[in-house]
Formats: sequence, structure tokens, C-alpha cells
Amino acid sequence: MPTITSRLLSIQETIPKEVCLVAVSKTKPVESILEAYHAGQRVFGENKVQEMVEKQAVLPKDISWHMIGHLQRNKVKYMAPFVSLIHGVDSLKTLQEIQKQAKKNNRVIDCLLQVHIASEAHKFGFSFEEIHELLANPILQELDCVRITGLMGMATFTDDTTQISKEFSALQQLFEAVKSKTLHIISMGMSSDYPLAITHGSTMVRVGSAIFGKRNYKQ
Ligand SMILES: *Cc1c(COP(=O)(O)O)cnc(C)c1O
Repeated sequence: MPTITSRLLSIQETIPKEVCLVAVSKTKPVESILEAYHAGQRVFGENKVQEMVEKQAVLPKDISWHMIGHLQRNKVKYMAPFVSLIHGVDSLKTLQEIQKQAKKNNRVIDCLLQVHIASEAHKFGFSFEEIHELLANPILQELDCVRITGLMGMATFTDDTTQISKEFSALQQLFEAVKSKTLHIISMGMSSDYPLAITHGSTMVRVGSAIFGKRNYKQ
């Protein structure tokens, strides 16, 4: 049986050092996170605010916590004191709520805009056009406690690598069109498709089950 440590180390070996590995620990116990932590991992991703808050309270304070799930605006306040990157921002309203809570905490919170690249209707995110519109919206200048540092996308859940490739390369093209000194992260790739995502320029991969093993229920 491979351990969390051995799986983590072998993944770290295969990804270029400039790509950030987010260890997705949702549904996994703090013991598992600690094992990864002791193997050197410092960036963890969760998709439920409550779960992240509970884990953050008991785990080492030098962990960077990333919120990767779909965001409910009324939950932003609970993570605002510590969250280091919010991946799934999909509306201006959410950005405005993050602004409000970041300000209360005297922080600037980094955010990624989620882009809809999958063929499934249920995946959240902005369309390409909406991304261009939002980035041109003067209202962003008022959000001085929010920093849009990149884009995030999730490919269709399929074995068809041609389709996944197409979706990743569409996101890569959008990223190339809008990237700047500040907007420099492209978060794409999960356990099943992160090597492919990296070939399409991903700078941040979100890997859960390939490190921690299968989750007991689908989330
Ligand atoms: C769960 C999740 C992941 C990780 O999924 P794995 O297939 O276990 O690697 C990545 N990104 C998001 C947004 C997730 O919800």
C-alpha cells in the first residue's frame, strides 16, 4: 500500500517546480493532512468553508489554505481571517462580499475567477466574454482588498482526453489574453488530468485522490 507520503513525493517529482501543487484534503481527517505536512506539503485545498475552518483551527499555522469549492456568499466571513486563495469566484457579487470581509480583517484576499470550460451545464463559472467584461469593469478599482491573481477551470468529467485537451487549451488562450503581472495563475488539473493540464500551461494543480486515496463519497 503506497502511503500519503510516497504518493505525494512521487507527484512532486513529476511536476515542474514552478507549478504549485494544492493538496486537496476535503473529507480527509487531520491526521492525513499532517502526514502530508510532515512530507513537506504546505498548500491544502478544501471545498467546504466549515470543514476548512475546523481543520485550520487545529493544524499548523504555516499552512496555506485554498478554498476550491463553489462559494456561498454568506460563508465568506468565516474564512476571511486566514484563507490564502479563493479559487471559485464566479460573480461580481461574490467579489464584493470578499472585499467587505477582507476589509474587516485588514487583509487583501487573492482570488481566482472561475471560468466555465466544461460541456456540463452544472459546472460553475464565467463565460469567456464575461471574464473580459468583468476585467474591464471600473468597479474592480474600488475592490482594494481583493486581488484577482488568476483564472481557474474544471474540465468535463470524461475519459475523452481530446475533449479535456480542447477545454484546457481554450482556458490557456483566455489566460494568455488577460494575464498580467498580478493575474499570473492558471489553476487547472486534478488527479486524473493534471499532467495534461501542465502541458497546457497550468501553473497550479489541485490534486486530491492521487495523494490521499479515494474519497468515501463523491464531492
Ligand atoms: C475535489 C476537487 C479536486 C480534486 O479532485 P481529485 O480528483 O480527487 O484530484 C480539484 N478541484 C476541485 C474544484 C475539487 O472540488
